[in-house]
Amino acid sequence: MQPFIYNALPSRVIFGFGTLAQTADEIRALGCSRALVLTTPQQRDAGERLVAQLAELAVGLYDNATMHTPVEVTQDALAVVKRCGADCVVALGGGSTIGLGKAIALHTDLPQIVIPTTYAGSEATPIIGQTENGLKTTQRTLKVLPEVIIYDVELTLSLPAQMTVTSGLNAIAHAVEALYSKDANPLISSLAEQGIAAIGRALPHIHVNPQDREARSDALFGAWACGTCLGAVGMSIHHKLCHTLGGSFNLPHAETHTVILPHATAYNAAAAPEAMARIARALGVENAAQGLFDLAFKHGAPTRLADIGMQAKDVTRAVEIACASPYWNPRPIESAAIGELLDNAFNGTRP
Ligand code: NAD
Repeated sequence: MQPFIYNALPSRVIFGFGTLAQTADEIRALGCSRALVLTTPQQRDAGERLVAQLAELAVGLYDNATMHTPVEVTQDALAVVKRCGADCVVALGGGSTIGLGKAIALHTDLPQIVIPTTYAGSEATPIIGQTENGLKTTQRTLKVLPEVIIYDVELTLSLPAQMTVTSGLNAIAHAVEALYSKDANPLISSLAEQGIAAIGRALPHIHVNPQDREARSDALFGAWACGTCLGAVGMSIHHKLCHTLGGSFNLPHAETHTVILPHATAYNAAAAPEAMARIARALGVENAAQGLFDLAFKHGAPTRLADIGMQAKDVTRAVEIACASPYWNPRPIESAAIGELLDNAFNGTRP
């Protein structure tokens, strides 16, 4: 066994079908009685139903959560928190809604109950990304780690089929990079392998039948496992490239992860053979990078940056930004090879 350091994160996790019904009890258990429910305009109906369900425990609904946590939206939401005298927030939605809850917690220290409805994994991390004047910055602080996560599989049944695949691959990306992280440790590596296997097994079933409850349950468990990996260990070139493409070129979050992941995995293959073997084993394939590409391609997800909003002229600039302040990576960051990686991702070449 290699020496390692492991930092456990404090968080209460409730997982199952119909667990949304436990939200009121969880608010009371935190010693709170005035919850502000957060969601997006697209999930307003679900937010309204939760407010009705919480009755006197809910003091309002803020339904303007926005991708990449723009500071103007946070300021607007903070004014609502103050006006309604909220003593906790309940974030119902994907990474965008959970990001808003974290931003409120960063400013106010209010406790958070989060109810994830995608597989992005933000709920399990002490990381917050925020956007100001078109620049995205991230920080890691326990102040933003949600106190309670309620996973209710029922709420994921409505996640559209294509978003299910891209969000699932977004989750798998956390586990892939955890396996070759410089902070890798045995507990997180086994969770990473379980997370990749659970999502890899679930996606083909959900693709055929989005209402497949067992597959939805596997996928949401996988999201928790993979999100826990993201919260526990450092990420590498894959996340650096996705942050660059999302932050500086405004590419969509889950789709960008989906397109980049096979290429980032191929980039690191020779430098991280044990991680590759574990990824391949989890997916039941011979080659990790090809297995990840095929998982996206076979289930209708995008495989070309050209198809998700990237301009060919921006590739060189993206390489410069990503290589200027790289994260630690098992293979040294070589700008010519990163250029090749992005060219392949731009064109959707199978690794
Ligand atoms: P999202 O939260 O923006 O959701 C995408 C859309 O899908 C939204 O309109 C949402 O309302 C809708 N939606 C979500 N769940 C649904 C469901 N079950 N049924 C129907 N519609 C549903 O997308 P995301 O990919 O979950 O989150 C992306 C954001 O999360 C990015 O800003 C990213 O930076 C952040 N993120 C942060 C971390 C972290 O650790 N800080 C981790 C992962 C992602």
